[in-house]
Amino acid sequence: MKEEKKFESALEVKKGVEQPPVISKEVVSGLKNRKKKKYTVSEYFEGIRRGDITILSQAITLVESSHPKHVSIAQEIIQLCIPYSGNSVRIGITGVPGVGKSTFIESLGGLITSGGQKLAVLAIDPSSEKSKGSILGDKTRMETLSVDRNAFIRPSPSAGSLGGVARKTRETIILCEAAGFDVIFVETVGVGQSETAVHSMVDFFLLLMLAGAGDELQGIKRGIMEMADTIAITKADGNNLKKAQLAKAQYSGALHLFPPTESGWIPRVLTCSAMENSGIGEIWNTTVEFIELTKSNNWFHQHRKSQSLYWMHETIRARIRDDFYLSDDMRSLVNDMERQVMEDKISSFVAAQKLLEIYFAKKC
Ligand code: GDP
Repeated sequence: MKEEKKFESALEVKKGVEQPPVISKEVVSGLKNRKKKKYTVSEYFEGIRRGDITILSQAITLVESSHPKHVSIAQEIIQLCIPYSGNSVRIGITGVPGVGKSTFIESLGGLITSGGQKLAVLAIDPSSEKSKGSILGDKTRMETLSVDRNAFIRPSPSAGSLGGVARKTRETIILCEAAGFDVIFVETVGVGQSETAVHSMVDFFLLLMLAGAGDELQGIKRGIMEMADTIAITKADGNNLKKAQLAKAQYSGALHLFPPTESGWIPRVLTCSAMENSGIGEIWNTTVEFIELTKSNNWFHQHRKSQSLYWMHETIRARIRDDFYLSDDMRSLVNDMERQVMEDKISSFVAAQKLLEIYFAKKC
């Protein structure tokens, strides 16, 4: 084969002169070697109490870690913070992707921080493990709040099951309260079980809904609507305004059919436009009204107490589950028993019974 003729051009690329690095090698290696400062438990605690956001963020990272050393430091920090926690208003915000959660949080968040209150925005997104990177609580989604000195935005912890993610968020609430945050938003995407988890850690539960999209489409189950203390129909602006008002009337009618709430509060349906900043103040006033009512009838404190019990039991269940399933001793026995169940050699109940007997015998 003939050798292809080289392309000749005056625009030949010459090997240039190598440019010196913009940052000296020493500085680069210094940066690489620089380790994050490690604090003692009391330094973490004092930093959190001072409202030092860097230290708070690092403590939350410890809470989110599953490394045994981190877990034990995190528990010590939480223990110190507990007496200083509980003073915020905890608000759960849920709704399907696209309903306008982040735009709404920007708008309501701005209202809260401009009144001088400190706001923390946390998120529970059990899907973030799969999607690698949180889709919720992302700073790029809340551009104004993310540079607001009175706001702190923390994306969802990404590791583990929903129960694990939720427990970490609950512990993060304690740290944020000890750091002096007055209002805490816990945002979640309304497509699954996460609403129940959020509901178990907040005082007020706000469901955002779109007008004109069926409940089915929005993945909103009756149970979730029943949990809501307020439903806000979003994007009530422009051509959508009429539809939003109609949806408000329909949902108000539907809420009347639900049994009375234990809190003594009658859930409301409101409309808002985060884009036009309308109806946002009314939602905040409603929240404040709810808190005042439930504090005066003592439901607020009762509810928090029962939430604490729920989390105690939830933590025990999770620890026992992990101890059983994650121990090397049990793993091969479980695998073996699974095979036998699949081959119809043993019933599920007998298999479970045998495994539990072995497990408890090992513990004695
Ligand atoms: P999220 O996925 O629930 O966090 O929803 P986003 O806040 O990201 O909003 C989804 C889309 O709805 C974006 O294109 C927003 O610009 C739009 N959107 C959000 N709030 C409003 C609103 O009040 N009015 C209108 N017309 N559009 C809105």
